Amino acid sequence: MITPPHFPSLATAIQTLFGERTQIEKTSPISGGDINEAYRLTLTDGGCIFMKSNTKENLSLFTAEAAGLTAIARTEAIGTPRILGVGTDAGRGGFSFLLLEFISSISRGGNYWEDFAGQLAAMHRASTDELVSDGKYGFDSDNYIGRRRQVNTGYDSWIDFFRTCRLEPQFQSAARYFDGEDRKRIGRFLDHLDEILVEPEYPSLLHGDLWSGNVITGNDGSAWLIDPAVYVGHAEADIAMTELFGGFSPVFYDTYKNAAPLQPGYERRRDIYNLYHLLNHLNMFGRMYLPEVMHILGRQ
Ligand code: ADP
Repeated sequence: MITPPHFPSLATAIQTLFGERTQIEKTSPISGGDINEAYRLTLTDGGCIFMKSNTKENLSLFTAEAAGLTAIARTEAIGTPRILGVGTDAGRGGFSFLLLEFISSISRGGNYWEDFAGQLAAMHRASTDELVSDGKYGFDSDNYIGRRRQVNTGYDSWIDFFRTCRLEPQFQSAARYFDGEDRKRIGRFLDHLDEILVEPEYPSLLHGDLWSGNVITGNDGSAWLIDPAVYVGHAEADIAMTELFGGFSPVFYDTYKNAAPLQPGYERRRDIYNLYHLLNHLNMFGRMYLPEVMHILGRQ
C-alpha cells in the first residue's frame, strides 16, 4: 500500500509542511462533496491548501484516497492534486483530515476535451505493474466508492473480479429490495456474466468513480482527476461511468475512441458497469435508484 505522510495534528502538519511559524489564518468551507467536509485553508505565509475532513474513525477514507491519487500521479499521464498528507487531530471532538494542493478554478484551456481524452487514454495504457498484489485485476488495498467499502482482491480474470468484487457485494447489501423471482434472475445473470462482459485487451488503472464532479479544471487549465476509487480493470468501465450522469463533451468520446478503440459490443457492457454504481447508489441513498437497477436487469 502506498502510504502518504501521516501527521498527529493539523497544526503539526502545517508546521512540518510550511515551516515552524506557519499557521492557519482562515478556514473557508467549500461545498460540493457528498461524503466529507471540504475547506480552503489560507495560511499565514500567504499560501492556501485544500483540506477534507471527517470523523477520526474515518481516516481510512483518506489513506485510501491518497493511495488512489498516488497511483494516478505515478502514471504521469494526467493531472491530479499533489498529496500533502493525512492525519488525525484531537480538536473539535476528534477528526481526520486529508491535505492536498489547492486547485484554483481557472478557465479551461482551448483543447480541454481533446487533451482530457488523450490523457485519460494514456492513463489507461500506463503500466499496472505492482498495483495488484496477487492477480491482474484489483488493487493492492481496498478503498471506497462513495462511503461504501470497495473490495479489491486480485483476480486473473476481469470478469471474475467484476462479478465477485463489484456486483456480488452490492447485490448482497441490496438483498431487501429483491423478491424470490428477482433473486433467481440475479443468480442466473451473475452465473452468465461471461456471456456479456469480455476480458480486456490490456489491464488499465481506472479512476473508478469518473462522474463529472470528479474532474476539475486544474491549475494548468486542463482536466485533473480528484476523489478516485482506483483499481485495475477494463478501461471501458471508466468510459461507461462518464455516460451514467453525463456532462462530458462528444469531442471527449470521439478523441478517446480514436486513441483507444473500444471493443465491439461496448454499449451492452456499459449497462453492466453502470449497474455497479446504480446498486451502490441504491445502497447509499435508497429506493429511488431501484427502477433503473430493475430496468437494466430486465434487459439481460
Ligand atoms: P467528497 O469526498 O465529499 O465527495 P470532493 O472530493 O467531491 O468531496 O470535494 C468537495 C469539493 O471540493 C468539490 O466541490 C470539489 O470540486 C472541491 N475540491 C476537491 N479537491 C480540491 C482541491 N484539491 N482544490 C480545490 N477544490 C477541491
